[in-house]
Amino acid sequence: MNGTRPAGDPLVGWRYWQLVTGGRRLRSVSLRRFVWEPGHPMRASCMTGGHRAPAEDCECGIYAAADLGALREHGLCLSPGGLVVGEVALWGDVVSGDEGGYRGQYASPRRLSLVEQTVPRDLRTSALAALAAYEVPVSTTGLDEAVGELSAAVLANQIMSLRTDGTAGTTG
Ligand SMILES: [Zn+2]
Repeated sequence: MNGTRPAGDPLVGWRYWQLVTGGRRLRSVSLRRFVWEPGHPMRASCMTGGHRAPAEDCECGIYAAADLGALREHGLCLSPGGLVVGEVALWGDVVSGDEGGYRGQYASPRRLSLVEQTVPRDLRTSALAALAAYEVPVSTTGLDEAVGELSAAVLANQIMSLRTDGTAGTTG
């Protein structure tokens, strides 16, 4: 599927995002300096080719998996910190990516779910309020559902060891 999609009829895929420190903004998991600002679509650029992104024979563009199953299998999520999973709308030029996914020219979140276990309980309310700024449906989901059981086990371990490190000084 390579072609152009209008903003009013986008292609819908799935992505992970990470909450930036403070839990107020979404950023890309793999390209960490890309912050998704509410109300401003992301626009792809090619950092290596200098051409209009995405290009079929390049790796540029904003990535989306075809569905949650494909995202669990191929998406990059193994990084501690607040994790968000959800649907993303791609429009403008859209090309087929590796592993059945897509790469788009423009993108914005379409539906967001906060992964409960990745945010401390007392910060979840403010994280959900921050996601509301994106003006799309917001919900919560469990780690197993978001990343699959295998990844969930690895992430749960990372989360636990981080919190243990963080409190080691005060608990002795
Ligand atoms: Zn490129």
